[in-house]
Amino acid sequence: MDLKAARERIKKLKAEIEHHRYLYHVRDVQEISDGALDSLKHELLELEQQHPQLITPDSPTQRVGGQPLDKFKKVNHSQPILSLEDVFSLEELKGWSEKNQRLVDEDYDYFCELKLDGLTVVLTYENGILVRGATRGDGQIGEEVTQNLKTIEAIPLSLKSGKYNLPKVFEVRGEVVMTKKVFEKVNKEQAQRALPLYANPRNVAAGSIRQLDPKITASRKLACLAFEIITDIGQKTHQEVHQILTDLGFKVEPHSQYCPDLDQVGGYLKKWEAARDKLDYQTDGVVVMINQISLQKRLGHIGKAERWMAAYKFPAEQATTVVEDIKVQVGRIGTLTPVAILKPVRVAGSTVSRATLHNQDEINRLDVRIGDTVIIQKAGDIIPDIVKVLPSMRTGKEKKFQMPQKCPICSAPVVKPEGEVNHYCSNKKCFAVEKENIIHFVSKKAFNIEGLGPKIIEQLINQGLIHNASDLFDLTEGDLQPLDRFAEKSAANLIEAISSSKKIAFSKFIYALGIRHVGEETAIALAQNFGSLDQLRKAGQEDLNNIRDIGRVVAQSIYDYFQNKESQKLLDDLLSAGVKVMKAEVKSGVLAGKTFVLTGSLFSLSRNEAKDRIRRLGGQISESVSGKTDYLIVGEEPGSKYDKAQKLKIKILSEKDFLKLIEG
Ligand SMILES: [Zn+2]
Repeated sequence: MDLKAARERIKKLKAEIEHHRYLYHVRDVQEISDGALDSLKHELLELEQQHPQLITPDSPTQRVGGQPLDKFKKVNHSQPILSLEDVFSLEELKGWSEKNQRLVDEDYDYFCELKLDGLTVVLTYENGILVRGATRGDGQIGEEVTQNLKTIEAIPLSLKSGKYNLPKVFEVRGEVVMTKKVFEKVNKEQAQRALPLYANPRNVAAGSIRQLDPKITASRKLACLAFEIITDIGQKTHQEVHQILTDLGFKVEPHSQYCPDLDQVGGYLKKWEAARDKLDYQTDGVVVMINQISLQKRLGHIGKAERWMAAYKFPAEQATTVVEDIKVQVGRIGTLTPVAILKPVRVAGSTVSRATLHNQDEINRLDVRIGDTVIIQKAGDIIPDIVKVLPSMRTGKEKKFQMPQKCPICSAPVVKPEGEVNHYCSNKKCFAVEKENIIHFVSKKAFNIEGLGPKIIEQLINQGLIHNASDLFDLTEGDLQPLDRFAEKSAANLIEAISSSKKIAFSKFIYALGIRHVGEETAIALAQNFGSLDQLRKAGQEDLNNIRDIGRVVAQSIYDYFQNKESQKLLDDLLSAGVKVMKAEVKSGVLAGKTFVLTGSLFSLSRNEAKDRIRRLGGQISESVSGKTDYLIVGEEPGSKYDKAQKLKIKILSEKDFLKLIEG
């Protein structure tokens, strides 16, 4: 993206993020999911990193949290509450650790805790008694909500100091959360009173803490899980902090874990990514931190983020991306389904490049246009779809989509029966032809893609994931995983098989195209005569007619194929999808220009071996004897070909003669 385009995109992103930030953090209203908002922020951060001159002080990337409202007393935090660096993969987490390792040059270990989706609060105790509770606010200044926090039974009003010799002022941080169960109950009550539903537990928790009437807060049954001690009482590690908090009477998140190395951190991440839905509280990731507090202090912070801890985000189920095109795919009963071709994006742990748009009505409902920035969703086993368009991201260059009048596969007229939402191809055989073409394309003698059987091909076409052979090469694991019987492993295997089939012998490539009358032998003959796809595409009718073993009808069919606009587009698409057609050796061996026919069984080598050797020496194989045949190789118990060859006075070779010829 050039500077001008980047500036425009950044401007749009900032306005969009600011809009949602205000709703989410100040008004406690959520219009788009956290995953979608994160996705916008991530794009902004990346663009700003590419063009640092475009960073402004008011950019959302430079901000931590929201402004306090005026209705509560403001509180200056004794220490600013900083943010965390987000990481989205184990690789990024390793990068984070390596950066720190270079700065401290000392061994350390880790502490992991679930990142609860709640509201951070600061609790101040004097002489062991809770005197003040404040919200995070913008990290520097929060709001005093002591009365409300006191209603949360998990927060101790006085500390069980016991063995600890606490100073007069003692400060703790915690996360106020609502269980999923309570959240459901609250929303049920909202529904009964015909009030709007809350988007998630975090929103209700935040809203409840900022109630002016503590009775409402009390009714919400919030919890508070303490996670940090600000006051220095000699604690050495974060693990110890959790122990002290527990001893003093705080509730702490029970699944936290000490991890001696990154391998164990990785195990922890994996475990909770899978089990997150079973937790009482909503979590969107894991906070990974360096356990030793002395090192935490040495590392300090960079900008507004602590260096010594990182937030590993679980894969979001929503993300934003751009609709690059809308294609139409034809289903089994001729249904035309529009499919959005997306700028590839990571969502729910895999890359997604397509989303179904179902039908024209759905496109109209969403008002999705080519070029639009959209929110896509991929939850569990569901095929990704577009849930929302962000119209304020439009530049004016977006294009509306209309169903074509002619079928994109067979050019037959498209019809829309009255009262139905779907458009159909009027040609009843359309789907079958398309499917057969692809089955042929991936077969053993063609691209030989293992694991791609007719059932899967049918599903892929039905889901709109492919509509011709070149689409196979754009498939991602994320496209396959939602399909029936596709485990993570088999999806990865198939993508690997497709990818490794890209490099292909010229003759196999020709065969794969499924040109009428062009079988394996003809494909080999074409490859040996033209050597490269470029040459073959340029071949005139005469060039084709001159090839031995290719008759007029076949030559015409080949010529027509390469003149056809749709074939040309398919070839271009295949090449731009990364298919590498290897050049064939133009016939130059000792058997160049000679055509062989075999009959009977050979003694010292199999028929296929014999054919291979003839081809490698530049000769051609034909299945039947004709005037163009140069040699008939005769083995044991020859068939009728022998008689025909004698009639046509064709040179006959015994197995011994043949071996002499090829070895001579
Ligand atoms: Zn059709």
